[in-house]
Amino acid sequence: MIKQVMDNVYSILFNSLEAYAYLINGPEPTLIDAGCLNEFEFEKDLSVVNLTPADIKKILFTHGHYDHFGGAELFPNFESYMHRADGEKINKRDFNLACTKAIIDSDYFPHIDNLLDGGENLYINGLDLEVIHCPGHTPGSVAFYEQSKGLLFSGDTLFNRNQVGRTDLPGGNEEDLWNSVKKLKSLDFKLLLPGHDY
Ligand SMILES: [Zn+2]
Repeated sequence: MIKQVMDNVYSILFNSLEAYAYLINGPEPTLIDAGCLNEFEFEKDLSVVNLTPADIKKILFTHGHYDHFGGAELFPNFESYMHRADGEKINKRDFNLACTKAIIDSDYFPHIDNLLDGGENLYINGLDLEVIHCPGHTPGSVAFYEQSKGLLFSGDTLFNRNQVGRTDLPGGNEEDLWNSVKKLKSLDFKLLLPGHDY
């Protein structure tokens, strides 16, 4: 299901795991996370805004879990971004970090072209996204913060209804998570756009 969040920003909800991807539409259509592969659902959602999978030019991943990157398999032409602490493992096809086998029987991994450190600003279709490293759920979790529009794409670190990310998966760290949650809560955002609908 695709819904307009604000201006050129859309949420796409994958009902199987309540995972969200976000579309930032514009000259270079970009996704934040890619959900889990449900080809039919994803193509149908994109067609609502007159896009096909070949139109997606960039995917920014909040972290290296399969339920956030699996859907990228549908897209033939994208440049990818992920924090290096997760991205280097994804480039080595680390099933343990990705939790793939817990979710689905798939061998798919995207190649990560751009390894982030945190602190970068990515200019995407009129949005100025600051990369905020927020380890805890995974070592390479990031959030993307658009200060002027008050948007925070928080991945699996902070959810609506005051929930926070789990730390019992490989690489999880509870102390890091609480520090990251504190960091995100200190930001001046109006709209929290998390990685799952819970
Ligand atoms: Zn996750």
